Amino acid sequence: MKFLQQLVLLASIFFFSFGFQFLCYGICFSSPALATSPDGVSIKDQIVGLANDPETVEWMKKVRRKLHENPELAFEEFETSKLIRDELDRLGISYRWPVARTGVVATIGSGSPPFVALRADMDALPIQELVEWGNKSKVDGKMHACGHDGHVTMLLGAAKVLQKIRFTLQGTVILIFQPAEEQGEGAKQMIQAGVLENIEAIFGVHLVHRYPLGVVAGRPGEFLAGCGSFKATISGKGGHAANPQNSIDPILAASAAVISLQSIVSRESDPLDSQVVSVSMIHGGTAFNVIPDSATIAGTFRAFSKESFNALRERIKEVIKAQAAVHRCTAEISFEGNEHPSIPPTFNDEKIYERVQQVAKEVVGEENVELAPRFMGSEDFAFFLNKVPGSFLFLGIRNERTGATHCPHSPYFTIDEDVLPIGAAIHAAFAHSYLSDSTTDSHSF
Ligand SMILES: [Zn+2]
Ligand SMILES: [Zn+2]
Repeated sequence: MKFLQQLVLLASIFFFSFGFQFLCYGICFSSPALATSPDGVSIKDQIVGLANDPETVEWMKKVRRKLHENPELAFEEFETSKLIRDELDRLGISYRWPVARTGVVATIGSGSPPFVALRADMDALPIQELVEWGNKSKVDGKMHACGHDGHVTMLLGAAKVLQKIRFTLQGTVILIFQPAEEQGEGAKQMIQAGVLENIEAIFGVHLVHRYPLGVVAGRPGEFLAGCGSFKATISGKGGHAANPQNSIDPILAASAAVISLQSIVSRESDPLDSQVVSVSMIHGGTAFNVIPDSATIAGTFRAFSKESFNALRERIKEVIKAQAAVHRCTAEISFEGNEHPSIPPTFNDEKIYERVQQVAKEVVGEENVELAPRFMGSEDFAFFLNKVPGSFLFLGIRNERTGATHCPHSPYFTIDEDVLPIGAAIHAAFAHSYLSDSTTDSHSF
């Protein structure tokens, strides 16, 4: 990655030295009025240069380490939120707070349309950090094990960059610092608080260990699966297990339901349309010779399209109810638990995805931008994408040398901080290019 950084820096110096504009790759900075600032340096080069300014990089590392030392769980991000507001104050950026309890919504630019949003999630996880380093979590049992400390820092980095070039913005950038992604509730509550009002497009990033440091990966359309959970209570009539004829056995009904649920994906779904139904909990009974009154089954289901996701949900309900009825039982089914709310599929708008790819290529080089496969994991950014077009992106942090090789939610998870200026530049560049193109109505990349 050092090599990549050096390459970016060298490229920046080269661009600055010659002040040329012809390396535009037909990218979104296509509006001639915005391709260069009055001093002849392209906006892209200014953004990359500002994000890689040694002082800014040091500041970002400091911010990220502070966040890492003080992880806060969903909807408890009070200190995190304060740190964000303090930094925004120092940068002279106005914001709205509190939004959805701890969220912060900042504004940079003209204050007029078009509006484009950038989002970072703020919450940590109930995990005991096992990485031994100088800025280890100071809170027992809590850890930024999903890289959200990095997300917040990259968005603050983008804020700093965009604030410096705010007079070149052809519209307004809205920075969304949201709580409670891990609970699947934060985005929903931010939307209810009106953060998407007037927003034309939204962009978000997740740091991932699957890709090497600085590699950007995404895909148009279906990207991450929708995730739903279900819980069914099957009721019968308890009695002595020696006389089953006097009981209505919910254990048998639950067992039949578990078996039948497996035929939804294997017999009803298109084999080319990846889906999952897993029953992962089954509870019922207290003694070997007693048929219980009821039994409970619960599990998860995943799909990539809204249609398949809704179809799964519908069929899970029908199958459990029908199997309960076959065995003379009744079933109550719920899909929305407080701990595990349903999250829709993450669907990247094709045009915006294309724009993001172009911007990413400008920042990290074409050879570091990849088409990602679909993933069965899910993200509450999908709630935003359900309301406005946008794109979600993976940004690689894998680096064997620094130990950044562990998957998110591992107590050994760590990021390579060299990713921070890259992420800040991609955020800022996307927002700037989107506004420029929207204003000039130029959608040819
Ligand atoms: Zn996570
Ligand atoms: Zn995460």
